[in-house]
Amino acid sequence: FEKFVDEEYFSSYADTEVHRTMIEDQVRTDAYHKAIMQDPSFVKDKIVCDVGCGSGILSLFCAQAGAKKVYAIEASQIAMLAKKSVIANGFEDIITVLEGRAEDVELPEKVDVIVSEWMGYMMLYETMLPSVLHIRDKWLKPGGVMFPERAVLKVAMGEASWITKYEENTYDFWIALNPMYGLDMTLFADHAVEKYSEYAHVFMMPQKDVLSLPATVCDFDLNTVTAEQLLSVKADIKLSSMGSRRLNCLVFWFDVFFPGGVKLSTSPDLEDTHWQNTVLPLPPTKVVQDTAFSGEVTIAQHKKRSLDIRLRYCVGDSEKMLSKRYRLDENC
Ligand code: SAH
Repeated sequence: FEKFVDEEYFSSYADTEVHRTMIEDQVRTDAYHKAIMQDPSFVKDKIVCDVGCGSGILSLFCAQAGAKKVYAIEASQIAMLAKKSVIANGFEDIITVLEGRAEDVELPEKVDVIVSEWMGYMMLYETMLPSVLHIRDKWLKPGGVMFPERAVLKVAMGEASWITKYEENTYDFWIALNPMYGLDMTLFADHAVEKYSEYAHVFMMPQKDVLSLPATVCDFDLNTVTAEQLLSVKADIKLSSMGSRRLNCLVFWFDVFFPGGVKLSTSPDLEDTHWQNTVLPLPPTKVVQDTAFSGEVTIAQHKKRSLDIRLRYCVGDSEKMLSKRYRLDENC
């Protein structure tokens, strides 16, 4: 099963379109470019490993920044084009593309720097970080540098107008069959709305739909975090609403930080990225200024590449703990 999931996963990166989508995300690409270029001392004359090089763009940035050697690992078919692009840019003496899985390739030497863009939706979706940590533990010299070096997942309360619109639209459709055909199909709407609430949804939350300041779900030092710690990430969350609104979701986003201080943020109050935000629907609840949301969230790897998310929470003065469970997978 794992092999099948991986084949499917890597084939999703074989096409040029997905690489275009990532490179086109200027917040993302500029953050990596700036982090690599702004202080050449991190990369200049250093031996670098680019884990999951895709199109090879980050390896090319490192070569431009004066890296002595770049090992670019890529398991999908896009590696063929990355190789050609290295030659087209005249960096064939610097960059070596190694076709294969990070878990399987052998590097000829240890490296000073690891560069990787491993983040998925809700930061942890795709479960690519363990592959980067594998390279870190096996091939990074003591005192070597991780790009990025820190990753933080955040959560806030939300009133997503998107969810409200989806529900209205679903009911409008199924209920309209009554006047049209004289049939009651409402239970299909109930079912659709219920199913919808069992998944995490990826879309950009307008800042006005965010109802609280964020809390931190996890804050990983990428120099030390282990793959075991990633299997199941558990956090207590305490939030407090701003204003009288209708709480109907939690919204998640992440920030990563590079040595030298560059930050790549996917926050709802900043420019959109291709990661957008990840939203967990909640049964709607009225909240007022300073209504407390407290609970516990557990984000677990499920079937290798998808996420199983569990939430236990209570809102306001209610003593009653509620439970919800969500899946983040290719259906989202
Ligand atoms: N570095 C590129 C691509 C990032 S997307 C860029 O910044 O544009 C992540 C890439 O990592 C994909 O191309 C995927 O195929 C590759 N990848 C993910 N896990 C991998 C693994 N274990 N071994 C090798 N490549 C991997």
